[in-house]
Amino acid sequence: MNHRLTNMSKWMNQNEVDISIITSTENVFYLSGFYSDPHERVLALVLFQEEEPFLICPGMEKEDAKASGWSYDIIGYSDVENPWELARQAIEKRKQKITKLAVEKEHMNVERYEALSSLFPEAAFVSAEENLRKLRMIKDEKEITIIREACALADYAIEVGCSEIKEGKTELDILAVIEYELKKKGITQMSFATMVLTGANGASPHGTPGLTKIKKGDLVLFDLGVVVDGYCSDITRTVAYGDITDQQHEIYDTVLKAQLAAIEASKPGVACSEVDTTARNIIRNAGYGEYFPHRLGHGLGIGVHEYPSVTETNSLMLEAGMVYTIEPGIYVPNIAGVRIEDDVFVTANGVEILTKFPKELQTIK
Ligand code: MN
Ligand code: MN
Repeated sequence: MNHRLTNMSKWMNQNEVDISIITSTENVFYLSGFYSDPHERVLALVLFQEEEPFLICPGMEKEDAKASGWSYDIIGYSDVENPWELARQAIEKRKQKITKLAVEKEHMNVERYEALSSLFPEAAFVSAEENLRKLRMIKDEKEITIIREACALADYAIEVGCSEIKEGKTELDILAVIEYELKKKGITQMSFATMVLTGANGASPHGTPGLTKIKKGDLVLFDLGVVVDGYCSDITRTVAYGDITDQQHEIYDTVLKAQLAAIEASKPGVACSEVDTTARNIIRNAGYGEYFPHRLGHGLGIGVHEYPSVTETNSLMLEAGMVYTIEPGIYVPNIAGVRIEDDVFVTANGVEILTKFPKELQTIK
């Protein structure tokens, strides 16, 4: 049994949990190695304290599940069978009395919860998420190698984006070329919908790219990520097209200073709140505090947003093995939207910066 499954069994034993039923694509992948998004169909990994785990998946995916290396039972079901009933039978063969059942409460919908509680009317439901979050927060050597590769491809994507900036091109023109070039390198999935924002659109932290044409004097903001073997990267760079105003320069320099200071402050034993505050104070002192409306960063891995959450109030200490983003931003409507985002990996005495595209202001002529 891999150490992730062993950890779950130990946690279940300590908390007197009889079975865990894991149904999110991310956690099933993390624990079993099988990556599948079956949409509305049921995918579930069922774990016990002592007995062998099993996987239940749509019948047409059974061969893929085997090929992924999962060596325990796989129950495939057809579109006319009830997967929960099949799961109950398989559970009964392994364990008769179920009084405590762990599920991902944030993920499970009410319909599935009702189906499970009618199959196990005596069982109390607890959350499996906290333990899984803790486990996933510390990356192993294999995970970090994959994330490094995802970050290198994110750097390449920004390079492509910058080379496509030309008078009259739209945000979507540039976005399409970025994703096309990545597809040519075998990338099938981005971490989230790619953002290319220009002019006034850049001042919205979560803007949507459209048909706005790029023109001289604009800042262009790229925020994107690449999925490699199930793991995400996440990078933001803001570049200038032609000459920008003194205030735009000042905003850029402030964000960069905040970003570099937060990287410098990051090391094991430092609280997430301290890292956020280090950057936030620089932005506040420059008079732009109200224009930095989000947390400094977030963990990433299989999910593009996972733990730790790097906020002003999170007292969680950084630990070697964590991977998170450092992404301060200043968004002043009609003046400038600037964000600079790197992914970092906590080492024994600081951080390794995984995204490497230059951060000094790049001016495209
Ligand atoms: Mn991002
Ligand atoms: Mn991010």
